Amino acid sequence: MPAPQTANQASTPAPGRPGRIVVKIGSALLANTSRLTPRYGFIQRLLEDIARLRSQGHDVILCSSGAVALGMRVVGAEPGSAGLSDKQAAAACGMPQLLNAYKQVGYEFDLEIAQILLTLGDFEDHRRFLNTRNTVHRLLESRIIPIVNENDTVTTEEIRVGDNDRLAAKIAQMVEADHFVILTTVDGLYDRNPSEPGAQLVEEVSDVSAYLQAASGKTTLGTGGMLTKLQAANMAQNAGVTAWIAHGDVDRPVSSVLSGERRCTKCLPNPQPASMWNSWLADRLQMAGHLVITDEAVARLSGNHPIHRDDVLSMDGDYSRGDVLHIYDREGVERARGLTDFTSEETRVMIANPDLPADQLLGYQTHAEIIRANNLVRLEGHHLPWDAPDDEAPQRRVVPRGGGTAG
Ligand code: GLU
Repeated sequence: MPAPQTANQASTPAPGRPGRIVVKIGSALLANTSRLTPRYGFIQRLLEDIARLRSQGHDVILCSSGAVALGMRVVGAEPGSAGLSDKQAAAACGMPQLLNAYKQVGYEFDLEIAQILLTLGDFEDHRRFLNTRNTVHRLLESRIIPIVNENDTVTTEEIRVGDNDRLAAKIAQMVEADHFVILTTVDGLYDRNPSEPGAQLVEEVSDVSAYLQAASGKTTLGTGGMLTKLQAANMAQNAGVTAWIAHGDVDRPVSSVLSGERRCTKCLPNPQPASMWNSWLADRLQMAGHLVITDEAVARLSGNHPIHRDDVLSMDGDYSRGDVLHIYDREGVERARGLTDFTSEETRVMIANPDLPADQLLGYQTHAEIIRANNLVRLEGHHLPWDAPDDEAPQRRVVPRGGGTAG
């Protein structure tokens, strides 16, 4: 159980103004750890609180884990040793149990619920992203509570978000939430491993990246740990959302966080939040390739300048027009992300032949702006990118400038 309710941020305003709240609920709150059955008592307390918030005019979106944990027993797998196919099958069994529990308890509080199952592609493909956003808005218009989860049954390692902390943060970005509440089984972020003597709860934080070291380890049932929670909080903060990390096993689990009446971690929103377009560009898991750019081009990133073919030292990847690329400096530090106006083949030809005009190389008129200024987002120091697979490291770049033939 969480620590007693001592004074937290006394200055935190109660959620008076109606706002939009995204709540992420961890598996260990929803499934009994030993029997792997739904924790109806928790679901009851949660939905009662949500009904209360709704009656105050707030919109609430739930991002609920628990499907995999609840399906484990049915498929005869163990949470500690289950492989991908066990988890896919478990999710198929657990999802109806989870939704049924929400549905049944929801009746008691007059709450209508709806299920939204997403895969990584629904975030990474901009059209699907907008479609999903429209659906969420349409449900909210009808006062229905969307319950979002990853569609674990059909996802494999390559095409999955993998943890609901970041999935929920993407939803908070997508709907421009005011608050993003991560409910878990610890009181919040600690300044070191909470099992170490003297560990202190961090009650308010601007730059969560300062605590990455303290955030190793994970809870028993879910996928994420404190690290993915910090990454998720960081994504939300950058989009101007206040993120909270709090214990969920209490009465009024959400409203007691927002009113500041109990100890938890509040992650302050970035005062200059990124636009939705820039967040979409910057916070993605799958990148199609990368460019390494000159020091001069790196220096110009803070102005509103495009990346021109002459700025590119080398590149890698097979990508299409409209794909998003990592942009590294010469030391291999990722400095920006941007949506490319050229295919990888066109880019390859241009940088391999720096002395020939782009029009001649490509056969059509072009200013050879590889990434236009409005499709480019600089990564600030406090931005925590999603994990990039090892094979995207810039050392593997294959086309050095001037080092090839046309075509
Ligand atoms: N999507 C998973 C589930 O429903 C949970 C992932 C996570 O724990 O973050 O069980």
